[in-house]
Amino acid sequence: MSPIWVFDLDNTLYPADTGLFDLVDRRITRFMVERVGLDPGRVLALRARYRDAFGVTLGGLVAEHGVDPDAYLAYVHDVPLEQYLFPDEATDRALAALPGRKVVFTNGSVDHAWRVLDRLGLRRRFDAVFDIAFMDYVPKPRPHGYRKLLDALLTPPEACRMVDDLPVNLDTARDLGMGTVLVGPAPADGHPWIERVADLPGLTRPDTA
Ligand SMILES: [Mg+2]
Repeated sequence: MSPIWVFDLDNTLYPADTGLFDLVDRRITRFMVERVGLDPGRVLALRARYRDAFGVTLGGLVAEHGVDPDAYLAYVHDVPLEQYLFPDEATDRALAALPGRKVVFTNGSVDHAWRVLDRLGLRRRFDAVFDIAFMDYVPKPRPHGYRKLLDALLTPPEACRMVDDLPVNLDTARDLGMGTVLVGPAPADGHPWIERVADLPGLTRPDTA
């Protein structure tokens, strides 16, 4: 049976060196200063504390400052994608050659995900996007969203292969019984590794490689 491929979005379906994710990151800081009114000197320390406590900055902003998650996500993803991303035919061909359903599983928003997929020319390759709202704002690598995802896909974890640029996100997937593939510039212990998604068809049996 073909696996279900569970792809991360940012820095996975496009490479980290595009600068797009750095721009989103800067908009998170800007949101905290301009919209929430936080002291710029405190923002970096606060973000680190929120990531420790909640997994993502948004969790702390909701819990401690009553931020509306949708307003936050719209603000931080309001970026000119066309300046950073371009249609990616190599990745499109690789995804087309890969048997099995494909979905996106992202700590970002569903709107951002479909916009990015549109810009990359990859939308038609994906059946669905599962975003941070789907995860009840409990982000990867917390297991909550993974369990909801497996329920929604009506599939046992062994039938899924998760592809992500962060080893910590893959660790949870592996603990739950899913296969894993790490994407990015450097390998990490415990996960099959490719440099870019376009290399995926060359990776045989990604659960055991
Ligand atoms: Mg990522």
